[in-house]
Amino acid sequence: MNSSAVHSLAFTASSKSNRSTTTNQLSQQNVQNFSDPSRPAWIEVDFAALAHNLSEIRKRVKPAKVMAVVKANAYGHGLVPVARFYEQNSVDMLGVALLEEAIILRENKIACPILVFGGLLESQIPHFLLHQIDITVSSLSKLEQVERWALHLGCKARIHLKLDTGMGRIGTRACSGMPMIEAALLSKNCKLIGIFSHFACADDPNDKMNALQLERFEEGIGHFEKLNAPIPMRHIANSGAILHQPKSFFDMVRPGILLYGIQPDAKSLAELELRSSLSLKAKTVFQKGMWKGQTVSYGATWKATKNTWISTIPIGYGDGFMRSLSGKAEVIYEGKRFPVVGKICMDQMMIESPEKCLPNDAEVTLIGMNGREVITVENLADQAQTIPYEILTNLNSRLPRYYS
Ligand SMILES: *Cc1c(COP(=O)(O)O)cnc(C)c1O
Repeated sequence: MNSSAVHSLAFTASSKSNRSTTTNQLSQQNVQNFSDPSRPAWIEVDFAALAHNLSEIRKRVKPAKVMAVVKANAYGHGLVPVARFYEQNSVDMLGVALLEEAIILRENKIACPILVFGGLLESQIPHFLLHQIDITVSSLSKLEQVERWALHLGCKARIHLKLDTGMGRIGTRACSGMPMIEAALLSKNCKLIGIFSHFACADDPNDKMNALQLERFEEGIGHFEKLNAPIPMRHIANSGAILHQPKSFFDMVRPGILLYGIQPDAKSLAELELRSSLSLKAKTVFQKGMWKGQTVSYGATWKATKNTWISTIPIGYGDGFMRSLSGKAEVIYEGKRFPVVGKICMDQMMIESPEKCLPNDAEVTLIGMNGREVITVENLADQAQTIPYEILTNLNSRLPRYYS
C-alpha cells in the first residue's frame, strides 16, 4: 500500500466519523432543547411518604427490627432506587422473593443483609454464597445441600429456617422441626441468623388461623429452648399482622404493602396513619368530538349516548393497567373526575369529558391525588375485583419512574 492510499483511507475514515459526530451533536442539541423523548405516561414515587410509613411502622413495632420487603420491583415502585432508599434509612434487612432480585441489589452496591423468601434449587446455592445473600432453608435436606456447598466453597452460609405454620407452602411443619433445628445448630458452615414463618390470613384479624399459626410458631421456637440453645432472630409478621397482631412482632417484622402506604385488604381498619407513595399519571395526546351513537375502542362496546368529547391517553394493559378496569376506572383532571370509556387497549385508553374538550397535553391522574379528588390503589383493586398487591405489581417496566 503506498502512502497516498494510506492517507486517503485515513482521510475517508476520519471525515466520515467527523461528519457523523457533527450531525449527532447538532441534532442532539436541537432535540434536547426542544423536545422530551420520554413517554407521556409515568409513575411518581414519593420518598417522603416511604420514610413516613417506615417511621410509623417502626414506632408501632419497636423494639423489633424491620425488614423492608422489596420483592416484585418493590411493589411496582422500582427495586433498586427503593431498596437503596430503605438502606439509607437504616432498615435492618431487605426481603425479596427471588435470587435474581437479590443479585440485582448486590450488583447495585446494596450492602445490607438480604433474605430471599422463595424455595431454592441446589444449583442456585453457590450464587447465594458468592453474593452473601441470606438463604431460606425450608427442610433438613435443603440444609444439608447448603452445608455441603458452603464447605466445598470454603465459606459460611447465612441461613433462616422456614417453618410452615399453616400456609402450606415451603417450610418444615413446626411440630416436626426438631431435626432441622438440631442440624442447623451443629452446622459448621451455616450461620443461623433467623427462624421464620408466614401468616395465611393476617389481613383478617378475626380469623382463627392467626392464633393457631402463632401457637405453632411458638412450638417451633420451643425446640431451641428444649435444646438449651440460643434462639436466632424470630420473624413472622407481614403487614396484616403488624396492623392486627402485636404478639407476632418477635425480633423483626416484614412489612411490604404497608411501607407503600396501602392497607393489605380493603376491609382492614386503618390503624396506622400511612401515606400512599405511588402516583400514576399520563397526558392526553389526542381529542375529538363524538356524535351520539358513535362507538369507542375494541368490540365497539361503548356508544356515545349524546354528542360528547373523547380524549386518548397513552397507557394501557400493556403497562399493567388492567383491562378488567375497562368501563370502571376514572382519571382526575384539574380536580375533576372523568370516566374511562370503552375497552382499555394495550397501549392507549379513552376518557370522556362530556362538557368540554380537554386540552392537548392535559395531565391526568390515574392513581393518586389531584386537587381534592383521589384515586387509591384500593379503589382500583375493588373495581378490578382483585387485591391492591396485584394492581401495584402489574405496573411494569414500560412505565418510567420518577423519584422525589
Ligand atoms: C411478601 C411477603 C411479605 C410482605 O407481605 P405484605 O403483606 O406485603 O406485608 C412478608 N413475608 C414474606 C415471606 C413474603 O413473601
